[in-house]
Amino acid sequence: MGHDAAVRDAILIILLYEKLGKYLRKALFTRILVSVACVLTFDQAGFFTALHFVTGAPVAVFFGGWFAKMAAALVYSTMLVGYIRWFEARQVPAARGLSDIFDTLTYRERYEALVEHVGRDGLTGLLHRGRFDSDGEAAVAASLRTARALSLLIIDVDHFKSINDRFGHAEGDKVLKALAILLGELVGTEDQLFRIGGEEFAILGWRPQPLARLLGETVRQAVKTSASTSRFDITVSAGISTVSETTRCLADLFALADQRLYKAKSTGRDRVVGEPGGNEADARNTWTRPERSAGA
Ligand code: GH3
Ligand code: MG
Ligand code: MG
Repeated sequence: MGHDAAVRDAILIILLYEKLGKYLRKALFTRILVSVACVLTFDQAGFFTALHFVTGAPVAVFFGGWFAKMAAALVYSTMLVGYIRWFEARQVPAARGLSDIFDTLTYRERYEALVEHVGRDGLTGLLHRGRFDSDGEAAVAASLRTARALSLLIIDVDHFKSINDRFGHAEGDKVLKALAILLGELVGTEDQLFRIGGEEFAILGWRPQPLARLLGETVRQAVKTSASTSRFDITVSAGISTVSETTRCLADLFALADQRLYKAKSTGRDRVVGEPGGNEADARNTWTRPERSAGA
C-alpha cells in the first residue's frame, strides 16, 4: 500500500471509529475492530476490482487477501486495545502519545457530553436559571399564541439558612439534592423543573391555575411527609401564577408568582399561594380569567 493510501485508510478508520461511538461507546475493542475491518474490506474490494480488470484474477484472490486482512485487523485491534489499557492503567507518561491521539480525535464525543451538561445545575442536575429564562420565555409566548394554560410555580425552602447553620453547608447541599429528586418524582412528564436560585426551584407546567395549585399542594405535602422521617424538618412555600390576558412575557408571570411566594412567606410559610379567591378547583384549560395587574 502506498503512503497516501495508508494515510487515507488511517483517516477513514478514525472517522469510522468516531461515528461508531454512538453505538459502541463502551466496547472499545469492537469499535476499533469494526472500523479497521470495514476500511480494510473496502480497501481489498478496490484492490481486487483493479486486479480483476487488469489481470482477470478470480474471486478466490479477493477472499485470500481479505482473510489475511481480517486476521491482521484482529491482531492489530487486540494490540491497540492492549496498548491503551495497559499503559493507561499504569499511567506511564511516555505512553500518553497513542491514547492522546484517540482522546484528541474523539473530542466531539466529549464535546457532546459537555453539551448535555450545559444548562444544568451542577449540584442537582436540574435545568438552571439560564434555561429557565430562555425556555420560560418561549413557553409564555407559545401559551399566548395558543391560549393553552401555562402556570409557573416558584418553590422556596423555608428557613433554609437554619439548616446550614445547624448542620453545615454540606448537609444543606444534600437536602437540596434530595429535594430536587423528590420534585422530579412529583412533576408531570410535560412539566419543566428548574433550580433558579440557591434553595429556590421553579416548575413550568401546561396546566390551568387549579391544577397548578394542586401540584403545589402535592409538593408541599410530600416535602413535609418526607421531612418528618428525616432529621431535617424542612417545609416549603410556593407562589403560583398562570398566563392570563395581562401577561406579556415571562417577567410578568414571574413577578406575580414571586409576589405570591412572598405572601406565603409573610403569612406563616409552609403554604401555597395562587390566584386570590381561587382556592377550590375549577379546572379550566385556558386563561380567559382577567387577573389583577401586578402594577402597584
Ligand atoms: P425563608 O423562609 O425566608 O426563605 O428563609 P431562608 O433562610 O430560606 O431564606 P434566605 O433566602 O435568607 O436564605 C437562603 C439560604 O440558602 C442562604 C444560603 O445560606 C442558603 N443557600 C443558598 N444556596 C445554597 C446551596 O447551594 N447550598 C447550601 N447548602 N445552602 C445554600
Ligand atoms: Mg428560603
Ligand atoms: Mg430563597
